[in-house]
Amino acid sequence: MSIRDEAVKAFTEAYGADPAGLWAAPGRVNLIGEHTDYNDGFVLPFALPQRTVAAAGPAPDGVFSICSTLAPEPVTFGPETAPGEVTGWGAYVAGVVWALREAGFEPPAARIAIASDVPLGSGLSSSAALESAVLTALADLGGLDVPLERRPAIAQRAENLYVGAPTGILDQSASIRCEAGRALFLDCRSYAIEQIPFDLAAAGLAILVINSNAPHQHVDGEYGARRKSCEESAAVLGVPALRDVGVPELPAALDRLGDEVLRKRTRHIVTENQRVLDTVALLRAGRVREIGPLLTASHTSMRDDFEITVAQVDVAVEAALAAGAHGARMTGGGFGGCVLALIDAGRAEETAAAVAAAYADHGFTAPTSWVAVAGPGATKLP
Ligand code: ADP
Ligand code: MG
Repeated sequence: MSIRDEAVKAFTEAYGADPAGLWAAPGRVNLIGEHTDYNDGFVLPFALPQRTVAAAGPAPDGVFSICSTLAPEPVTFGPETAPGEVTGWGAYVAGVVWALREAGFEPPAARIAIASDVPLGSGLSSSAALESAVLTALADLGGLDVPLERRPAIAQRAENLYVGAPTGILDQSASIRCEAGRALFLDCRSYAIEQIPFDLAAAGLAILVINSNAPHQHVDGEYGARRKSCEESAAVLGVPALRDVGVPELPAALDRLGDEVLRKRTRHIVTENQRVLDTVALLRAGRVREIGPLLTASHTSMRDDFEITVAQVDVAVEAALAAGAHGARMTGGGFGGCVLALIDAGRAEETAAAVAAAYADHGFTAPTSWVAVAGPGATKLP
């Protein structure tokens, strides 16, 4: 059954009625630019074909009801919900209602059923897909005039302040603003975006996404520690954020940072921002294949300087490169999650098999791989 049909089925089973409409928002992979978002830097995500569908309709009794194929028993809350009231998965949905009201919009009470094929907790941003699908549904259902450029920050506030997860603006921007066949170049300081041509098929190339299926460990604590190191480094260097340090100033900046950990973290962020800019320049010039070495350099930097990889993702990168990939890197916040590899179109099966064989050699849980084509952002389904 398609995700769309699953959402309709979940809706009719939970509420005994047909939904008024269906809205979908995708998961994302970040082509390059990791941990740069909260340093006011640059990121370059594209939308996955996997997406979260919200089947929704008005709630006759003025009470919000939400359910998911993963949690079929409806959770209810009133329009004046506030952080702390709804916990668990429902917080992502109630958070969107709360954040819309905080932003001055009056979302209509709705009944919502969720279905998704975005893998949860794999760094593909199922949380932003959920928030974005719900936000888009509520805006349409209520005829709310929420400008597209304001939507990512509203969804981010839901996740930061209602759910309590201190994430940057990357995920929600990608799920809401990506376009098919493009990568989204986002300046996380100004929120300026540019749609970058990303037609891999035309270049005879493909992106293979490899889910390491490694259990996430200590993610929240490590994420917080990385953010803190970056803030400390910026403070020592006397800049608002590490975005303000360019590659030419890096050697002098590293000299001023006595602490070896801060030096490594800073080196990753500064060089990673430059790699995003270099990748964008190559894509604009249609030189897609040449981004491969930048992807691999990004991985090396995450492994050695930012220290956010685990054995499973390092092995996947090495195996993909050994199988002929033009470049490969972990994507997402780290400590597990997914790897992406830039490969010749038609080499997907061999590359996936090579990674799977390397995993078997290491005794790791088998990976899951698929070719990802840049899809559309959040939208109402016809
Ligand atoms: P990621 O965004 O990388 O997938 P997160 O931990 O940020 O991982 O978000 C995953 C959480 O989002 C899940 O634990 C769940 O609470 C919620 N979620 C995402 N998709 C769904 C869904 N289809 N149904 C119910 N909850 C979901
Ligand atoms: Mg998330």
